[in-house]
Amino acid sequence: MRTELVSEPGDPARPNEDFASVGLPASGQGGALVVLDGVTPPRGETGCLHSVPWFTARLGGALTELTVSLPDVPLAEALAGAITRTADAHRETCDLSHPRTPQATVVVARWSSETVEYLILSDSALLTESPNRTITPYLDDRLARLPRASLATDAMIDAHVRNKEGGFFTAAADPTVASRAVTGVLPRGEVRALAALTDGATRWVEKFREGDWSDCFTFVRKEGARALVDRVRALELADAEERTYLRRSKTHDDATVVYVEL
Ligand SMILES: [Zn+2]
Repeated sequence: MRTELVSEPGDPARPNEDFASVGLPASGQGGALVVLDGVTPPRGETGCLHSVPWFTARLGGALTELTVSLPDVPLAEALAGAITRTADAHRETCDLSHPRTPQATVVVARWSSETVEYLILSDSALLTESPNRTITPYLDDRLARLPRASLATDAMIDAHVRNKEGGFFTAAADPTVASRAVTGVLPRGEVRALAALTDGATRWVEKFREGDWSDCFTFVRKEGARALVDRVRALELADAEERTYLRRSKTHDDATVVYVEL
C-alpha cells in the first residue's frame, strides 16, 4: 500500500480549513481516509465562539476514530456519531442552530479485504481506479445542479439553500444530515487505487478544464499530489492576472489531495 497526502492553505497567512487523515490498522488489509473542507463563513455572526479549523479538527478526528475503530458500523452512521460528538463539544457555549455554525464537506472511504465503502457530502470528490485503469468519480452534485440565481447572495444561501430541503447539505451540527450523503459499497477487487480531493484541488477539472476526472486521476498517479496542487496554484495566478473568471471569489482556496494505492 502507498499513500500520499498534500494539504495546503489557499493563503499562507491564514489557517488551513481543510482536514485530511489516513488510518491504517496495524493488521489486516483495511484502512480509511477522511477529507473535510471547512466552509469559510462570510463576514458576520456565526453563533459560534470557535474557528473553522477548531471544528474540522474535532469532526475529522472523531470521524477518523469512528471509521477505523468501528469497521462494522456504516459510514453514514459514523458520520452522524462524529457530528453529534462535535456538537456536544460546544453545545453549551454556542448557538448551533445558526445557519453559519461551523460546517464542512465530507469524503470518507474505508477499505477491507472484501469491500471499499465510500461517503460523499457536498462538493469534495472521490475518484476510484479499477484494475483495468477505468476511473470513476463519486460526487454529491446537489450544489452544482442548483440554479446560479439561488446562490446570488450569502443571505439567500443561508435562508433557502444550505442545509435546506431542495438545496445542498454540509456536516454542521445536525447528525441527520448524514443520511443525505452519497454512499455506496464496491467490491475490493474493483478498486486498485483511489483519490479524495477538496474543491480547491478539483478546480483543475471544474474551473480550469485541464482535463476530465480520468485525466486528473492519471496526473496524480503519475506526477503526484503535490504536482496537482502546484499546477492549480499556477493556473490561479495566471487567472488572477487575466481576470478571466470574475465569478470566483478567492484567487486561491485550501487544497487537499489524498491518494491511496491499495
Ligand atoms: Zn462553537
